[in-house]
Amino acid sequence: MTSLDDYLTEKTLLDLAPPKAYVDGAAAAEHGSVRILERDEKHLRAEVAGSPMQTSELRLGADGLRWSCTCGEAAGRLCHHLVATALATWPTEVPDDAE
Ligand SMILES: [Zn+2]
Repeated sequence: MTSLDDYLTEKTLLDLAPPKAYVDGAAAAEHGSVRILERDEKHLRAEVAGSPMQTSELRLGADGLRWSCTCGEAAGRLCHHLVATALATWPTEVPDDAE
């Protein structure tokens, strides 16, 4: 069974988001602008800080990945809020050069 986590790979995000949205989304995630509100296998909802704050939602249904964002710019492509939301669910990589 496919879960949303399996779906939200870097490749998927790069395919679905315009390059600028990907870059801006990665920056927003890195700066901790994302607050996850709900998360389960098939559904992800988060607030992304900004002016104004936006609410992004990703859902995995029978017909594939669906998304929406209150910014209104997520028709057809992912906006940077959605990219940030997806990236915020990735495990944080811990540098292994701590010695
Ligand atoms: Zn948005």
